[in-house]
Amino acid sequence: MPDRMEQIVSLCKRRGFVFQSSEIYGGAASVWDYGPLGVELRRNVADAWWSAMVHARDDVEGLDAGILMHPRVWEASGHVEGFADPLLECKTCKRRWRADHIEESACPRKPSVAPGGHGDCEIGEPRLFNLMFKTFMGPVEEDASAVYLRPETAQGSYVNFLNVQQTSRKRVPFGIAQTGKAFRNEITPGNFIFRTREFEQAEMQFFVEPGADDEWFDYWRDQRLAWHKEMGVRAGKLRLAAHGPDQLAHYAKAALDIEYEFPFGWQELEGVHNRTDFDLVRHQEFSGKRLLYIDPGSGKRFVPYVVETAMGIGRSVLTLLVDAYREDEVGGDTRVVLGLHPRLAPVKAAVFPLVKKHGMPETAAALHETLRRARIPSFYDMAGSIGRRYRRQDEAGTPWCVTVDGETAEDQSVTIRDRDTLAQERVGLGQVANWIRERL
Ligand code: ATP
Repeated sequence: MPDRMEQIVSLCKRRGFVFQSSEIYGGAASVWDYGPLGVELRRNVADAWWSAMVHARDDVEGLDAGILMHPRVWEASGHVEGFADPLLECKTCKRRWRADHIEESACPRKPSVAPGGHGDCEIGEPRLFNLMFKTFMGPVEEDASAVYLRPETAQGSYVNFLNVQQTSRKRVPFGIAQTGKAFRNEITPGNFIFRTREFEQAEMQFFVEPGADDEWFDYWRDQRLAWHKEMGVRAGKLRLAAHGPDQLAHYAKAALDIEYEFPFGWQELEGVHNRTDFDLVRHQEFSGKRLLYIDPGSGKRFVPYVVETAMGIGRSVLTLLVDAYREDEVGGDTRVVLGLHPRLAPVKAAVFPLVKKHGMPETAAALHETLRRARIPSFYDMAGSIGRRYRRQDEAGTPWCVTVDGETAEDQSVTIRDRDTLAQERVGLGQVANWIRERL
């Protein structure tokens, strides 16, 4: 069987989910562009996250902070000093690897062994490589105007903690949620959209009274695990992995990964972190401004602890694609299906005329128009045999195909075929939009 990741990368390109960035120039390493279907899936994932984390709750507010921030932010956060991975370089082939990924990497001269395993390898001492992208703000390229592209959205929530708390009149415990781009100059990006240098995060910082942090940490772990299952990810492919003391980031008291079993092994999909009061205290020190919370009820004064949930939206998209991908046999043919949750599927319904005559194309086009007006993403297709049209939609993850056929003119009904069960149901022409809406 061809490698599952290759199948997914190929499907993504073939159907317009994901393209390599700047492909006509030979590609930009580790940057990917979302095509027409991919952008819908990505937005649906981000919307589902926002809906669960912000709209469905009374204790989380949204924020959209800038990517560029005051450079002192990153000194306070510890990123200038500590956001670095250990880098190993081979003096023979000049290639570089993350020291903690060396065992899973391949020597370019002899891919069956890890770097260092070939007689000619000359691996140097590990040195720290800072992952932040640096650029310049304003027209002068000098050190004084250096700024960073944010490597996480979290800091925007910390520096706005009091702004959000006071304007929304929230009481602790409450959270601040953000989605947005983050940038990390990863030493070894790879595995398609799993690890990229530009990516989108969905992060939520939950501010709690010190002492309540352990309880909230468990609460958010359970909430986030449940969310991935609600999105349709198979429970058996998800697991929790707590970080040992030697794996904890500089700011964390406790951390765990929600892991998914990718074709390349169990890997982090989302992190849940107890960041204590580290960030707020550091911002107080570096900014000289107090970030103290005074509870209007009890009068208690404290710098809150923070429990963070941090997910990569692209990584969630990859998880959903991998998890939904399957091949099965239909009438002696192999079909590729993306069994995406209907809520996440880029296109909800495809509308086909069975043949290109007897008024069927007109009726089908009108139905397609009706669905679009009802804001149900719909796709009209009359090219090729009905079987081929079904196959294309199966690969795109479209849950329902609606066919206008010979009987439609007589009884004003159409056939709706279910992507997963292949069951066909007759539904009144005027009922299709409602029928779909009820199932979303
Ligand atoms: P790693 O140790 O794998 O580099 P991390 O533990 O530093 O990652 P976090 O800082 O916890 O990652 O980031 C939160 C989430 O953001 C991750 O769970 C992942 O989903 C996503 N993420 C982090 N780095 C990348 C990346 N380079 N590309 C895509 N998504 C990423």
